[in-house]
Amino acid sequence: MSTPTHTSAPAPAGVLNLHGLSVDGVNQCVHCGLCLAYCPTFSELGTEMDSPRGRIFTIKSLAEGRMSLTDSVAQHLSLCLDCRACETVCPAGVPYGRLIEAAKVEIERQQPGALPRRLFRWLNFGLLLGHPRLLRLAAAGARLYQTSGLQQLVRRSGLVKLLPGTLPAWEALLPSVPSKAERTPPPRTTLADGPRRARVAMLTGCIQAVVFGAHNRATARVLARNGCDVLVPEGQRCCGALNAHGGDHARALAMARQTIDAFEAVAADFVIVNVSGCGAHMKAYGHLLADDPAYAERAKRFAATVRDLAEFLAQEPLRGPLQPVTMTCTYHDPCHVVHGQKIKSEPRRLLAQIPGLRLVELPESDWCCGSAGIYNLTQPEMATRLLHRKVGHVLETSAEAVVTANPGCILQIQAGLGAHQSPVRVLHLVEILDRAYGGGE
Ligand code: SF4
Ligand code: SF4
Repeated sequence: MSTPTHTSAPAPAGVLNLHGLSVDGVNQCVHCGLCLAYCPTFSELGTEMDSPRGRIFTIKSLAEGRMSLTDSVAQHLSLCLDCRACETVCPAGVPYGRLIEAAKVEIERQQPGALPRRLFRWLNFGLLLGHPRLLRLAAAGARLYQTSGLQQLVRRSGLVKLLPGTLPAWEALLPSVPSKAERTPPPRTTLADGPRRARVAMLTGCIQAVVFGAHNRATARVLARNGCDVLVPEGQRCCGALNAHGGDHARALAMARQTIDAFEAVAADFVIVNVSGCGAHMKAYGHLLADDPAYAERAKRFAATVRDLAEFLAQEPLRGPLQPVTMTCTYHDPCHVVHGQKIKSEPRRLLAQIPGLRLVELPESDWCCGSAGIYNLTQPEMATRLLHRKVGHVLETSAEAVVTANPGCILQIQAGLGAHQSPVRVLHLVEILDRAYGGGE
C-alpha cells in the first residue's frame, strides 16, 4: 500500500491536481466493490460512475491525464455527497474524503461557472462565512425578510422563480432565523458545576451561531453540569468546513489558521464541537496544513484536542441528577459524526442514561439525509430523493422526535417532515440533554 505524498505544482488544464495527495492515495483502491452497497448515490442510480469505486477510477484517470474534466465527468464527481460512508467500510483504507475534496477544488478551479455563480460563491464563502459581523447583519436582514411578510409575498407571487441559477433553491431552504434574543451567544466563561473535570473551549460556529444559538447556550450549560469550565474564545470565526467541502481551498486554509490562533489563545484542554461537519474538519487540520511550516505542528496539536460533544461527554457517566424526558426518539447519525469521526455508540449511550426516554433504532440511520453541507442547494434532485428515503424511515419508527447532531441535518429533515405535515420534531442531542438537566430558557 502506498503512502500519500504531497503535490503542489499546478496541473495542466483538464488534468486533476490532487492538492495534498499524489495519485498513490488513489492506488490504494483494490476495486473490491465492498463500498458500493453503502453508497447512497450508487444505490439510487446504480451507475458505476456514481459509485465510490467509479469515482476513484475517474479521479485516478483525471490525475494521470487519461481523462478530461468534461461537464459530464464533473457532474458525476459533484454528485458525490462526501458522506464518507464508503470510507467506513473500505478494507483498504482509501482516504476517499480527502480525494473527493481535492477533486472538488480542481473542479472549481477549472470550471468556476458564470459571473453570477462566482459572485454568489464569493458572497457566501468569501464574505459572510469569514466575517461574523456581516453574517449577523445578513441574519438580521433574513429575519426581517421572513417576519415582515415579504418572504410570503415573494413566494406567492412567483417572483422567486425569476432568480438566476440555484437561487430559488437557496431561498426555499433559507432557515427560519430566530429573534435577536434567541441568537445571543453563550457567556465568554461558564464555570464548572461541581468537581472540575476539564477546561474546554467551545466552537460557536458560523451558521450555527445565528440559526441555532440556543444549542450553543445549551452546550455550555450541559458541559458545565458535567464538570467543565467552558470558554468561548473571542475572535473565532467559521472553521472553514463549508469552504473545504465546496472546493474553496485557499479560504479554507486561511480559516483553519485563524481558528487555531483563536483557540490557542485560551489554552484549553479540549476543543468541543457540537456541529458534525466542523468537528470532522477541525480534526483534519493537521493534514490540511501539513505543507505550512508555520502551522503544520500547531495544526496537529490542535486537531488532537478536538472532540465532538457526544464523544467527550460519553467518556464518563453523565453527572446527575437527571430529570425524566418522557419521549420516544430515534437517532439519525450525521455523516461527519459517524463516518467522518467514527462516533456511533456515544450519542446512543448518552440518550440511554436519560430517565423516561425510549430510543428506537432508525433503519439506515447512518445514511445521508441529503443535506451534506450545501449539497441540497447544489444537487437538489438527489438531495430530495435521499430526504424522502430518510423521512420514510423516520415515519416507520413511530418516534415522536428525531435526535441528531448537525444543523444541516436538522434543517433538512425538518423540511422533509414538514412536507409530510408530520408532527415529528427534530432535535439536537444537546437539547435533550439540557432538558434532562432542567435547562431551557
Ligand atoms: S462519499 Fe458517500 S456519496 Fe460519495 S462515493 Fe462515498 S459513499 Fe458514495
Ligand atoms: S471498498 Fe475500498 S478498495 Fe474496495 S472498491 Fe471501495 S474504495 Fe476500493
